[in-house]
Amino acid sequence: MELITILNRCHRFRGFVYQQANFGADKKSIEVTVRPRKGSAAVCSRCHLPAPGYDQLSERRFEFIPLWGFLVFLLYTMRRVDCRRCGVVAVEEVPWGDGKPTLTKAYMLFLARWARRLSWKETAESFRTSWDKVFDAVEHVVTFGLEHRTFGQIDAIGVDKIQYSKGHKYLTLVYQIDLGVTRLLWVGKERTIESFQGFFTAIGEEITSKIVFICSDMWEPYLKVIREKCSEALHILDRCHIVAKMNKVLDEIRAGESRRMASEGRTPLLKKSRWLLLKREENLEEDQRFRLRDLLRYNLKTVRAYLLKEAFQQLWEYSSPSWAGKFLDEWCRQTMRSRIEPTKKIARSLRQHRELILNYFRAQKLISSGVVEGLNNKAKVTMRKSYGFRTYRVLELALYHSLGKLPGPESTLDFF
Ligand SMILES: [Zn+2]
Repeated sequence: MELITILNRCHRFRGFVYQQANFGADKKSIEVTVRPRKGSAAVCSRCHLPAPGYDQLSERRFEFIPLWGFLVFLLYTMRRVDCRRCGVVAVEEVPWGDGKPTLTKAYMLFLARWARRLSWKETAESFRTSWDKVFDAVEHVVTFGLEHRTFGQIDAIGVDKIQYSKGHKYLTLVYQIDLGVTRLLWVGKERTIESFQGFFTAIGEEITSKIVFICSDMWEPYLKVIREKCSEALHILDRCHIVAKMNKVLDEIRAGESRRMASEGRTPLLKKSRWLLLKREENLEEDQRFRLRDLLRYNLKTVRAYLLKEAFQQLWEYSSPSWAGKFLDEWCRQTMRSRIEPTKKIARSLRQHRELILNYFRAQKLISSGVVEGLNNKAKVTMRKSYGFRTYRVLELALYHSLGKLPGPESTLDFF
């Protein structure tokens, strides 16, 4: 069986024939010459229609999927056409390649698939190619996917931000969180009003008007865009963000009080208490639980803040929005009397966003921000994997590639 027979089976194109396969001069690569089938006209790369020939360019090498340790190249002499429709002399279009990159489409698809499982660097190393080529491959596949995806009806979306670099560099990510369909819909630079508005421009007014649920954190620019664009939808404040915020504040209170006690030479009661206080009590080990109970006997600011935080968890048990509302009001009232300034600040913020919090119960808890959190965790993993050059463009491509559920370009064969 010859190599050409295999190629004809898996990578065959009308109007072109594989002529012969040889080892390259270095004996480490295989070069397969391709030529046009006799009598078949070249296709204009501008209008995608056959056009009369004009001249030939020099031979180009297209990188194909490596085989048994050999790099494989398709060698082809590009023709130029004199296209009357376009009124110019243009280079021909070849079905296995795509514009500028020197990779065949099949190889780009192949690399891009691996780049979803491995980091881009590992993908490049595994197939003895360069990081730049992996980038080209992913860019090709993602560009195709974004052009060919359909939004369909979107019932629920979640918006979140993710930090990608020091110095407050953030991305805005919008996910579809319908029951049954979860995917990344949008990556926006920064976490501004404009970056989130870009999403609504992309999906258009009709799809926007049919969105029923929106889940977000308390970031004011997001709240503003939602009020403007989606006033009909039920806007739910993300439960995970509220809990995370409380934990953050509690941790600051503990750290501050612990330092103060040390400087005053008091018994270091709060030493190694961090996880005791941040974990939910039911997730603690037996001995940790014992230590926690011991700690709670002391009248410390940290302890009082901890008890308030723990009491707040009861909110999520309610089903009725009005009872949840009563609980929330009572919790805020108690907290405002606590004389713990950071916790009071949270209570003020919760009061301010009371209705959005209660929307969680109005949505009958159907929309769980846990889905958004899960997707955002995957996004963080993706960001770590695409390391190499952590530019906005790289991250944008990597995120769409792994979380966008984009349609892939067709391939004549599954090269796995
Ligand atoms: Zn043309």
